[in-house]
Amino acid sequence: MADKTIFSRIIDGEIPGTFVYQDEHCVAIRDIQPAAPVHVMVIPRKPIPSIAHLEPEDHALAGHLLMVVKKVAQQEGLAERGYRVVINVGDEGGQTVPHLHVHVMGGRQLTGHGTA
Ligand code: AMP
Repeated sequence: MADKTIFSRIIDGEIPGTFVYQDEHCVAIRDIQPAAPVHVMVIPRKPIPSIAHLEPEDHALAGHLLMVVKKVAQQEGLAERGYRVVINVGDEGGQTVPHLHVHVMGGRQLTGHGTA
C-alpha cells in the first residue's frame, strides 16, 4: 500500500523497530530519537491518523491504549518515579507521523509541559 504509515511498516515487520510490548490491538516501540532516557510510543495496529479521527467504534481501543501506557510504564521502571504521556495531534500539535501514537517519556526529571 503506497500510503502505509511508517508505524504500519514497523508493525508489519517491513522496517525495523524495537518492540517493548505487543498485543492484538497495539504495540509499543522505542522512539528512534528519544527525548528522554525512556521514550516509548504506544501505537494502535489500526492506522487511525490521529485523535481527531477517532470514531465511536474506537472507544474501547482508545481506553486500551491508556491501559497499555500504564503497563509499559511499569515495565520500563517508571511507575514509581513518574513520567509524561503526550499525544500530538495535527500540524500545529507537532504531529509528524499521521498514525495515532502515545508518547511515554521518563527516566529523568521533566519540566514544563507539552515537550520533554
Ligand atoms: P510525533 O511528532 O508526535 O508524530 O512523533 C513521531 C515520533 O516518531 C518522533 O518522536 C520520531 O522520533 C519517531 N519516529 C519516526 N520514525 C521512527 C522510526 N522509524 N522508529 C521509531 N521512531 C520513529
